[in-house]
Amino acid sequence: MSFEASLQFAQQKDKDDKLAAYKQQFHFPQIDNKDVIYFCGNSLGLQGTKVQAAVQQELDDWKNLGIAGFLTAKNPWMYYQEYFKKTLSAIVGCKEEEVTVMNSLTVNLHLLMLTFYRPTANRHKIIMEAGAFPSDQYAIETQVKHHGFDTDKAVIEIAPREGEKTIRNEDIIKTIETHGDSLALVMLGGINYYTGQLFDIKSITTATRKAGAITGFDLAHAAGNVDLELHKWNVDFAVWCSYKYLNGGPGAVGGLYVHEKYATDPSTPRFAGWWGNDEQARFKMKKGFIAKPNASGWNISTAQILNMASLKASLEMFEEAGFDNIKAKSRELTAYLEFLLQQLDHLDFEIITPSEKESRGAQLSLYFKERGKEIHEKMIDNGIVVDYREPGVIRVAPAPLYCSFADVFRFYEILKSFD
Ligand SMILES: *Cc1c(COP(=O)(O)O)cnc(C)c1O
Repeated sequence: MSFEASLQFAQQKDKDDKLAAYKQQFHFPQIDNKDVIYFCGNSLGLQGTKVQAAVQQELDDWKNLGIAGFLTAKNPWMYYQEYFKKTLSAIVGCKEEEVTVMNSLTVNLHLLMLTFYRPTANRHKIIMEAGAFPSDQYAIETQVKHHGFDTDKAVIEIAPREGEKTIRNEDIIKTIETHGDSLALVMLGGINYYTGQLFDIKSITTATRKAGAITGFDLAHAAGNVDLELHKWNVDFAVWCSYKYLNGGPGAVGGLYVHEKYATDPSTPRFAGWWGNDEQARFKMKKGFIAKPNASGWNISTAQILNMASLKASLEMFEEAGFDNIKAKSRELTAYLEFLLQQLDHLDFEIITPSEKESRGAQLSLYFKERGKEIHEKMIDNGIVVDYREPGVIRVAPAPLYCSFADVFRFYEILKSFD
């Protein structure tokens, strides 16, 4: 790819972009009565223009049909979770039997840890990232305590080396090998939310399996963003939220993956409820849980229809645009952002996200030693929404469905204008 640092070049890239028209299918927040440039899709994706009608459809069916909507709504509510399987399994790279939508991310993390973190006196350690997203830290800490173990001994944190910002894969593998026999679970983010580093899920999973332990991934920042092959890589389980790159809306229902070998085995332990029960037997109101022979066997409660409707509308856009096209544009857009940032040598900052394409997704995290906060404020003043995290990190995520090359160029221009 050869790029140029000019508006004309960026505009030509937008003209050649076959996904460019999708920008019109989103609502943008306004600053000074103008659409913002939105680089926060890694925190909360924007609302598609078809979402409102999709939610309205369910409201109307509820209004007009009452209880009958479970079977006779336009999208019968009884089978609502089925509507996600095709698109989501393509997005995370698994079989349709291995995926379902329910609850939200941290709840699903707890539920799948109940299935997969079954510590014994000899094997109870969990490997995780130092400085993981707080909710993941709390979940892991309280699971360890719930099982009566000491977090200081059971939780092994992997950190970047002294003077480095991201974690080396060799250090992850080495840590797995070191703890081998005492290791119960390796639980990492697919992409670290702060640095934007995408871990080598395949090699981590292989090493964990060799150690006789379970691999789980939190794909909050990876789902809908990067190539995933969960089934092929033999990942045991994964969870994600749907309101970041998947644009499902604030608190959208989360997703989960359970490898086929557990998903199709009804004796796999879990905390159950009636929505995970075999459909034929569900309404007989009899004793004895019979798990559905797929990931839906982890469903617990009645499908959250109003919450799922927006995600359904969003995934239809993914399906229509083609996830491979979305990822291809994303790689180029982020590479263009990186190229432009490399032209700026008058500002003291560092891109802490890895530069290798296979070690990142849409997001670049920029570490400003001094002026991070000031630059963040100037971006907002200029109608550009980016995220700021102490100390000094601006995270920029050009989401391919609603960000353009010209948007990325604008961000660069503002940085360039700093003296
Ligand atoms: C966004 C995010 C969460 C949020 O969890 P919720 O349960 O959806 O609030 C958790 N973990 C990671 C790594 C995240 O990026």
